[in-house]
Amino acid sequence: MEEFFATNSQQQILNRIFSLNLGLLCILNIDGWFETVNNSWEKTFGYSAEELSNTNIIDYAHPDDRDATAFVFSELLHANHRLTFSNRFRSKDGTYRYIDWEFNRHDNYAYVAGTDITHTKLSVAGLKAVKKHLENNHSHCSDKNLCPTRQKILVVDDSPLNTKIMENALIEDYEVLISHNGKEALSICNSNDPPDLILLDVIMPEIDGYEICRRLNRSEKTKDIPVIFLTSLTESKDIEFGLTLGAIDYITKPFSVPIIKAKIKNHLALKYYQDTLKINTDVDQLTQIANRRRFDDTMTKEIKKAKRTGTILSVLLLDIDHFKFYNDTYGHLEGDACLKKVATTLATTLKRPRDLAARWGGEEFTCLLPNTNTEGAQNVAEALLKAIQNLSIPHESSPVNDVVTVSIGVISSNPIDENSFENLLKHADEALYQAKETGRNRIVAWHEKIEAIEPYL
Ligand code: GH3
Ligand code: MG
Ligand code: MG
Repeated sequence: MEEFFATNSQQQILNRIFSLNLGLLCILNIDGWFETVNNSWEKTFGYSAEELSNTNIIDYAHPDDRDATAFVFSELLHANHRLTFSNRFRSKDGTYRYIDWEFNRHDNYAYVAGTDITHTKLSVAGLKAVKKHLENNHSHCSDKNLCPTRQKILVVDDSPLNTKIMENALIEDYEVLISHNGKEALSICNSNDPPDLILLDVIMPEIDGYEICRRLNRSEKTKDIPVIFLTSLTESKDIEFGLTLGAIDYITKPFSVPIIKAKIKNHLALKYYQDTLKINTDVDQLTQIANRRRFDDTMTKEIKKAKRTGTILSVLLLDIDHFKFYNDTYGHLEGDACLKKVATTLATTLKRPRDLAARWGGEEFTCLLPNTNTEGAQNVAEALLKAIQNLSIPHESSPVNDVVTVSIGVISSNPIDENSFENLLKHADEALYQAKETGRNRIVAWHEKIEAIEPYL
């Protein structure tokens, strides 16, 4: 080993440490050039100390890990004194080994310890095989919306170094969103374009990872986004706690990037299947809006909420006017296209997050408007009537208008009795019947006594 320290005693200590079988040890200068290495390097990678001297550690990194490795050095130089990360290091025979590194900076040198974790590749390969199997099973999926090519991962960590490393590791395969604080992470998850998976650091200022996970789980909108904790807390009680909060996995730092990537792939494959199953059971296949099953589930929940909070729940029942004539005139395919347009218009015209438009069956639709009184419900019904008429879909055989129109029955009530579900729908249906009987293309609201509302013309 080359003489590294000025004094004999320091050099002797270093020689002794280096001769112990402690895994990969080396000293690099602050730009990554090898100053000295122990014998483990030759055993692990096949390079002698002479071969490594005057070469740079960054040049041995796998091309995909090179940026992250260079980034570690720039961080070490500017901000940190101790960093841990993983990369793939090229052996003399050209193969790569997976190494967990710990870099400690002292003066102008980096004191480095590495652990060969290549044996974990076997389990990674196993996980990959499972993933491949899952992928093959949905490769026939032709719908791009249901089978996205790039799923989205949100990395939440207050350390820019950690987020950078994860971004570098994942960017090739996924869309990566970065957030350095809990508040921003929660708002990304609650947006209309939430991530498919979250990598979540635990210890962060203000809102910590546990609290973020708790809040995500509490909300219907975000509770199905898988969370993987990424943390330096390694006690089993911490891990257990994280998992009881609803996280699907828990990875401790220092972490191995290849293992994280493999875990992410598998969790995302499962998430994709869950989403697809949910879409198939909740969504009407023709119109792609909520189906009756989803409507029933949501209505049951909303009735309970309205009872608890003493608020008014409104239900709208809509039916296309003279749709049989439409099919007879334009054919069934045009009829289907018309149903799709009407459904999309209903779903996009409703504005509040808890409002729901669903296909009830045939050419009938329902809208659920929680916390909406009679006046509000009638306003919404008018907006829907108008929006559908404004589609200007020609309907030459309709006796009521030359474009497609709907009739709407409205019921608004604070559901207090046991048969609220049936009663709400029964009253909405009675109101709809009145709208049809009194001329169609109009709204009728159910009260104690049904009132007809002037038709929108
Ligand atoms: P009204 O104004 O009284 O509602 O008259 P209507 O003709 O709309 O009512 P009716 O119930 O007599 O006919 C409903 C029509 O809707 C008959 C059926 O063929 C058509 N229909 C139901 N489901 C579908 C569908 O999925 N696609 C198409 N193209 N037509 C459908
Ligand atoms: Mg009908
Ligand atoms: Mg009809």
